[in-house]
Amino acid sequence: MSYEAVIGLEIHVQLGTRTKIFCGCSTAFGAPPNEHVCPVCSGQPGAMPVLNAEVVRYALRMALACGCDVRRDSRFARKNYFYPDLPKGYQVSQHEKPLAEGGAIEVLHEGERFSVRLNRIHLEEDAGKTTHDGPGHTSLVDLNRAGVPLIEIVTEPDLSDAAAAAETMRTVRGIVRALGISDGNMQEGSLRCDANVSLRPVGQRTLGTKTEIKNLNSFRFVQRALEFEIARQRALLDGGGQVVQETRLYDDARGVTLSMRSKEEAHDYRYFPEPDLPVLVIAEAELAAARAELPELPLARRQRFIDVLSLTDDEASELVRERELGDYFEAVVAALGDADAREIKRAANFIRTELLSRIDDARDAASARVAPQRLAELLALVRADRVSSKLAKTIFAKMWDNRRSAEEIARAEDLFVEQDSAAVVAEVERVLAASPEEVAQYRSGKTKIIGYFVGQVMKATRGKAPPQLVNQLLREKLAGDD
Ligand code: ADP
Ligand code: ZN
Ligand code: MG
Repeated sequence: MSYEAVIGLEIHVQLGTRTKIFCGCSTAFGAPPNEHVCPVCSGQPGAMPVLNAEVVRYALRMALACGCDVRRDSRFARKNYFYPDLPKGYQVSQHEKPLAEGGAIEVLHEGERFSVRLNRIHLEEDAGKTTHDGPGHTSLVDLNRAGVPLIEIVTEPDLSDAAAAAETMRTVRGIVRALGISDGNMQEGSLRCDANVSLRPVGQRTLGTKTEIKNLNSFRFVQRALEFEIARQRALLDGGGQVVQETRLYDDARGVTLSMRSKEEAHDYRYFPEPDLPVLVIAEAELAAARAELPELPLARRQRFIDVLSLTDDEASELVRERELGDYFEAVVAALGDADAREIKRAANFIRTELLSRIDDARDAASARVAPQRLAELLALVRADRVSSKLAKTIFAKMWDNRRSAEEIARAEDLFVEQDSAAVVAEVERVLAASPEEVAQYRSGKTKIIGYFVGQVMKATRGKAPPQLVNQLLREKLAGDD
């Protein structure tokens, strides 16, 4: 029997607000344990939560960017369970009335575009962190993360392979970064997901029994855990067995998923409406404001780069990878004035090679040592044939090192294209005179050897001779019988 996988993701995004969702404590990552804690987020009796308005604005941005229906009266609910890192004994989340429903995330994977429909997006608070490596086999609790704002994005089971699921996570990271609502950093836990997966015979509509793999915190883990789990379920079914509905954990060291708890042991969260928080009412004006603030999403930007700026798929994909890199590119194009397709491509290639090789993270384009305006000045010199494309790279390297302008460097180091054609003619003649053997070879039909002459002239002029002129002169002189 041949099976297909069905995958749905529950994605948690930590919102990048300065303060927590229900108190004024800082959300900064990496502080000493229990530094950012107050009576509210440490669950002291009688402490009252107050909703952070910025959290709502951030969540609305995501909901609108994904085309969700925003509920005008959503409700917070208590999700009750006991764990040491949950001081209140419940997590404030949303249950029956989430902030947003419907919508979709558009994903581009292996050249194909598809939609992953969303079931809902809701608001909730994060729990603290427990570590089990305290002195003398003790466990330690850090409440800095307790009360940090999250959105949970629940997808419909629209995905059918592990790589596409990982790509969906990458897409979510791109969107939240473009929206400026989260850094989407999986290493620091700002973005993580639970992956639900089942198999069903190809052609069958009803879903099979699923397992849920908890807390995947890297793109690679998402892919590997799902690949393993799909193979495990397939082996079970092929062997005549059945998949047991359960929660599993991924152990990357061993590359396997392990059972954590079965359906029978599942938590009963006894959800009920949070009595300490009012209904979250979203006003029309708030929605309109959030809508007006929406930036272009990476996929739309990519398409515009292809359609309007004539970039190739690869060029566009790379340049929209981070908002800051796309902004840099657009600033260069704008500063170039009315650049034609060739000049735009030159700018794109320059950024992809010269700029990206000098920064560790594409987001650092925002603070690059050579500002977009400065790169545009350099490219304008290339456009005006005052600097060769090859020497432009040399000039860029120097601009990077000493922050001077292209013009200054070209003048100081004598790197402008040789404008004096008499000097170029003289150099061409000198090279031909010095290579009688090669000249004879050319004339006997080995015309490819012209590259040798070009190279010699370029070397003698330190790359400053205009290549077209050199080629033209060489052909003329080699064709003549002098
Ligand atoms: P639960 O009741 O176990 O929380 P939900 O219906 O709320 O399950 O769905 C949770 C996530 O699991 C969603 O992302 C959903 O798309 C996905 N999901 C639900 N059923 C299946 C299934 N049979 N196979 C794969 N994914 C599923
Ligand atoms: Zn607090
Ligand atoms: Mg559920």
